[in-house]
Amino acid sequence: MVPDLPVRDVRVAAYRVPTASPESDGTLEWCATTVVVVHATAGGATGLGYTYADVATARLVHDTLREVVVGRDALAVGASFDAMVHAIRNLGRPGIASMAIAAVDNALWDLKARVLDLPLCTLLGCVRDSVPVYGSGGFTSYDEAALAAQLRGWVADGIRDVKMKVGRDAAADAARVHAARTAIGAAGLFVDANGGYARKQALALAERFASDGVTWFEEPVSSDDLAGLALLRDRAPPGMEVAAGEYGYDLGYFRAMLEAGAVDVLQADATRCAGITGFMRVAALCEAFHVPLSSHCAPALHVHACCAATPVRHLEYFFDHVRLEGMVFDGPPSPQDGLLAPDRSRPGLGLELRSADVRRFAA
Ligand SMILES: [Mg+2]
Repeated sequence: MVPDLPVRDVRVAAYRVPTASPESDGTLEWCATTVVVVHATAGGATGLGYTYADVATARLVHDTLREVVVGRDALAVGASFDAMVHAIRNLGRPGIASMAIAAVDNALWDLKARVLDLPLCTLLGCVRDSVPVYGSGGFTSYDEAALAAQLRGWVADGIRDVKMKVGRDAAADAARVHAARTAIGAAGLFVDANGGYARKQALALAERFASDGVTWFEEPVSSDDLAGLALLRDRAPPGMEVAAGEYGYDLGYFRAMLEAGAVDVLQADATRCAGITGFMRVAALCEAFHVPLSSHCAPALHVHACCAATPVRHLEYFFDHVRLEGMVFDGPPSPQDGLLAPDRSRPGLGLELRSADVRRFAA
């Protein structure tokens, strides 16, 4: 049966955008970020989706997923999602395959919302009008002056919580955290070690960080060490939450993390866990486990899903992606008084690719 509104085409391109300065966290260093942008068309409408991933992800969209989706009902996003998951069976679901599905799934949700002339959050079904954000950056590549300036800037803009990277130099981390606390006054202070510590080292540092009022300890140990995360969750000082989940690609990963009691707050990233479809399923899982959810990176994408997912606590307003999304897209919203709201005057995600501006970043 030929659908009334078939997906006509799926196009993909990748753009490698240099960072403002060299960036690093506890376990990785980078100087550019690659965004893979998908456009899906049906009728007279074009949907836009994206992921942050290797150029190989774009190749997989072009060579494999495109033909899976073209011709399918543009309004039946779930059917396209299932077909894409089926098509990559022998490639392995985590990693590149899930990020490729994510980019297409996000484009298909945007397309459907545009066909119906609705903001994506309205199509998904809002439970809130806006979502609290926390400022995220504080890279280990920053000196204390740069760290303090960035975190202080967010607080001055009305953002209530800020997050800094730790885990690269354990001997220096307590002093960096103390410098951050001095810079931001009474604002909420989060730290993210990106798995850079060993268990007992992380426990000792949790006590030090608690003395500076740190309330969020992200990936104190490797996210693969669920028992270690659970240990930290049980033994961290009162008032300090343990969070992880950004490397989750499928529901089984998130279920295992929740079943292990590894986190106080689960994180999920719609550019990795297979798009808006996957993110909303993770939200349902969080509800079943009574664990709050926080979105990871890609703020312009997540703002819609975060307004439609009950267990969401906050959205990560990640410096690198805020900057990139402002360069690559027209339409990303800015937080007001610490809250990010979708632009409901625009259909879908409300984003348009700045085609002329991004040509120089083509990867
Ligand atoms: Mg993180």
